[in-house]
Amino acid sequence: MECSDATTSSLEDSTLDPQNIDERVDVLLPLPLAGPYEYQINNGLKLTRGDIVSVPLGSRVMTGVVWGKSQNNVDAEKIKAVIDRIDFPGLKESLVDFIDWVAAYSIAPQGAVLRMTLNVKGAFDPPKKMTFYSPAEIQKTKYTKKIRTTPARERVFKILNNGALKTARELRDQANVSISVINGLASAGLIKKTEQLQKIDIKTPDPDHYNINLTVAQKKAAHHLTKIINNQNFSITLLDGVTGSGKTEVYFEAIAETLRRGRQALILLPEIALTPQWFQRFKRRFGSEPLIWHSDIGLSRRRSGWRAVSTGKASVVVGARSALYLPFNDLGIIIVDEEHEDAYKQMEGVSYHARDMAIVRAKLVVCPIILASATPSLETRINVAKNRYNCVQLPERFGSAQPPKIDFIDMREEKTPVNIYLSQKLRNALISNLQSNEQSLLYLNRRGYAPLTLCRKCGQRVECPHCSAWLVEHRANHKLVCHHCSYQTKAYINCPKCNTSGSLVACGPGVERISEEVKSLLPKARIGLMTSDTTKSHNSIINLIEKIESRELDILIGTQMVAKGHHFPDLTLVGIVDADIGLSGGDLRASERTFQVLNQVAGRAGRASRPGRVIVQTYEPEHPVMLAMAHGDREAFMRLEEKNRKIGEWPPYGRLAAIIVSSKNSLAADKTANEIGRTAPSGPGIRILGPSPAPLSLLRGQHRRRLLIKTSREESLQSLIRAWFSKIVIPSHVKVRIDVDPYNFL
Ligand SMILES: [Zn+2]
Ligand SMILES: [Zn+2]
Repeated sequence: MECSDATTSSLEDSTLDPQNIDERVDVLLPLPLAGPYEYQINNGLKLTRGDIVSVPLGSRVMTGVVWGKSQNNVDAEKIKAVIDRIDFPGLKESLVDFIDWVAAYSIAPQGAVLRMTLNVKGAFDPPKKMTFYSPAEIQKTKYTKKIRTTPARERVFKILNNGALKTARELRDQANVSISVINGLASAGLIKKTEQLQKIDIKTPDPDHYNINLTVAQKKAAHHLTKIINNQNFSITLLDGVTGSGKTEVYFEAIAETLRRGRQALILLPEIALTPQWFQRFKRRFGSEPLIWHSDIGLSRRRSGWRAVSTGKASVVVGARSALYLPFNDLGIIIVDEEHEDAYKQMEGVSYHARDMAIVRAKLVVCPIILASATPSLETRINVAKNRYNCVQLPERFGSAQPPKIDFIDMREEKTPVNIYLSQKLRNALISNLQSNEQSLLYLNRRGYAPLTLCRKCGQRVECPHCSAWLVEHRANHKLVCHHCSYQTKAYINCPKCNTSGSLVACGPGVERISEEVKSLLPKARIGLMTSDTTKSHNSIINLIEKIESRELDILIGTQMVAKGHHFPDLTLVGIVDADIGLSGGDLRASERTFQVLNQVAGRAGRASRPGRVIVQTYEPEHPVMLAMAHGDREAFMRLEEKNRKIGEWPPYGRLAAIIVSSKNSLAADKTANEIGRTAPSGPGIRILGPSPAPLSLLRGQHRRRLLIKTSREESLQSLIRAWFSKIVIPSHVKVRIDVDPYNFL
């Protein structure tokens, strides 16, 4: 194993004196504790900030990180000693500082942030043997005649007969079978079990594997980025290019230059599982795949990946938010693709925005960061305008592709019959597109069949018993499902309230219902559905995308999953079924977000030689979002958004945090929320909104109240909140969550 010298990154003053047996250190544990714990150093152990150590905690032994000199607050008879330093490169100073920074900014316990770095079970243990499966001799020769086979078993055999050893998890995913099928085959002796160490091949992408022919505009942009890499300094650059302009190929050149310098690259993608085409493009350019990092990878891959990042063996890492916390050995660039995406905001556990934290990470590491988008966020645009960020533009589509033509349908004037959701114009366009053998896409950001089930007799709206939300009908599996918690129930025949039979009606469309409508309009069309319900596994997404690429599908219907950077050359028609979804509600980014996603969806049309067409159905054709789409005037729309935010002093013109109080007991939630409101700070630059019931006032059985604190940019929001909450005692049956820079207002 390669091993870098951990002490080289230490600060002079944080190195502890090994001669002094009374020395103590602060050790941070990956637990949601307020701060580090003090430990004594025995046996002349030499420790430095960032070192990984094992320490006792109660009766357990835990892995922690040396955080610095301690303040000697613990009595000598109570203090415990560090057990040992783990023989592994310590965390770099820049990562330790980053963890402190994220904790302070997001008002989260430092240990909870450290856990995002150290959340790899057994990362420091010697590698363990794993169980692998291979074909049994009997199966190779005779199984077809003597043994009962099923399609599931056949798929397992087919994969194993390719020769490679597979784990149960790999077989399950690749053959799309349950673990019990694999166990059944193994116990019948039809496949062979072996125990051995897993060899995980960490590939090295080659910066000069294949040179893509870039357009003049791409070359210019790539040249600019290469220059930034060669400066080896911290800088922020927005790569602003319309959909289909080839941004990815441009930032690939920045990665190539980083690799030539022997440094590591990190690329953040908002929804990594949805973008298999990205990996094909990467492989074409660099000859091998990058290291993938997200919450769904198996433990042994996680373990070896973490170590490879730490030693520098993994030179390119592509990941979701969590990849930011990996212990890079020599990070040379960070790229945040689709920087405007909300998926970068983490809501569970420590809440943070990965794009914003990536900028901090780059600053502390001292490396450039590139933000790429076709519809940059308002925050990023303002930073470009203030010359805090550089900007590189790609104003035109790649090759001969032209921007799609956009038509609007005013649904108020459209006299569609009951339960018909597609306008005549969109129906005609679908028919003629099918006749001319071109592919179409229908976008509706609503899963299931219908968002509301209503009783015509008593007016009852069928709701989730645990949330203040309607149950959504999923007709394909005869269920009513809550999209906010895991609750589901069989679809009712009688009204659950008045017990009338046949009185329940499905109101409004979801993608399933649109699919039904298209089937009756075009019975011969081959239709695919892309939603999180139909594409649960990574392989099912890949399969669906391959079907579209190979022209096995004529019409794709989907939720926002269809918007994600897919490139389908034969797709020429995009229909947006309900452009107004997402505009309602008190969310400060509702318009901006709608504009971004509609642009992204529209951008799927006509990406190759054939021209694209977009039909947008709306009840609000005069809404600024629709006008901006109609006139292709992103600038005017964003200027209006900027103005609105500035007037209200909303971010980024002011600072904002949400406080969410929740409890199973609604009175307790009210009491704590009122107490928080009563003790709120006040002053000229400070405004408190609430407490008031959250729009989702009941969620998973928890009653929820919300407050917002809004301050001017000059205020230190975090210090205000810390001082505020230091005076409040939160009862144990009430939870309070603080969300700095909130993106969700439900
Ligand atoms: Zn009823
Ligand atoms: Zn629910």
